[in-house]
Amino acid sequence: MPPLLEELASLIEEVRNDAKSAATPNELAQVKARALGGKGFLKSALSGIKDVPSEERKAYGQQLNALKNEFEEFFKRRAAEIDAAAKAEAEFFDSGLPGMRVQMGRLHPIRAAMRNIVDIFVSMGFDVFTGPEMEYEKYNFDLLNIPEYHPARDDMDTFYILPGLVLRTHTSPVQVRVMEKIKAREDVIVQMISPGRVFRRDRPDATHTPCFHQLEGLQVGRGISMANMRWILDEFARRFFGPETRTRLRPDYFPFVEPGAELAVTCSMCEGKGCRVCKETGWIEVMGCGMVHPQVLRNVNIDPDEYSGWAFGFGVERMAQVLYQVPDARMFFENDMRFLRQFS
Ligand SMILES: [Zn+2]
Repeated sequence: MPPLLEELASLIEEVRNDAKSAATPNELAQVKARALGGKGFLKSALSGIKDVPSEERKAYGQQLNALKNEFEEFFKRRAAEIDAAAKAEAEFFDSGLPGMRVQMGRLHPIRAAMRNIVDIFVSMGFDVFTGPEMEYEKYNFDLLNIPEYHPARDDMDTFYILPGLVLRTHTSPVQVRVMEKIKAREDVIVQMISPGRVFRRDRPDATHTPCFHQLEGLQVGRGISMANMRWILDEFARRFFGPETRTRLRPDYFPFVEPGAELAVTCSMCEGKGCRVCKETGWIEVMGCGMVHPQVLRNVNIDPDEYSGWAFGFGVERMAQVLYQVPDARMFFENDMRFLRQFS
């Protein structure tokens, strides 16, 4: 080997070793540039040819050329090897690895509670009706005996869309729509529930949200009394809250029922003994109910002297809050997966 090439020996060795340990095409390209690039050592060795004695020049040039060709072959081979290794890694399948965990969807707790409630009433022979979420004032208020001056009509409480058109504030208008269509006069002419979304201009807090779910029920027929209401609501409370649950009715006022009542269930935390959850009373109020006001029946051409009925309504969020002991109604729509995953 001519003396100048001997000087290159250590550089050649170094580049070969680095090329062997390069793991990516990018790393290899950097090593290649050190040998064959514009500022590579082969280039500078070639430019040093003028200092070589003329009789050695030819041999020197041939050797450099051979070295350059050899390097090019070598880098081509290394590139192919790196490529093949990357492919093999990508295709490698380890059947011993644990499988990927699949996230299973499940019902939102409000949807689950709603289905559960609907199933209970359907099993007792109630039909399910739904109505529009955007409702005429006539159905939302007038025909339900809610007078012109009633505070519920205030635009502080109700979302008005257009004059005479609101986002329904309760599911009761569905009762009116169903009763309006009744032609047959059987003993029990209506036995229905209507689940759905309702809207109120409430600032969200632990017990209020501007949109929530309500479920309304109605039974109208000949000789229907508060005893029918009591039995069915008792049965519902036992099936939804647990077989030990007892109920309590207390007088209350709603414009569309007379007499009106409020139903409370025994606190499941303390079994009626009194605790923090029930504010030491042993009871938790869960719904409004009562005998349908005669004027509401007259409004839909049902003779209140011949027929009577009872109705109830409650917030599904409220029911779920009591059942699952959820302290804040907002948790149901904040969609925090850590909260929602608890209900399976
Ligand atoms: Zn209690």
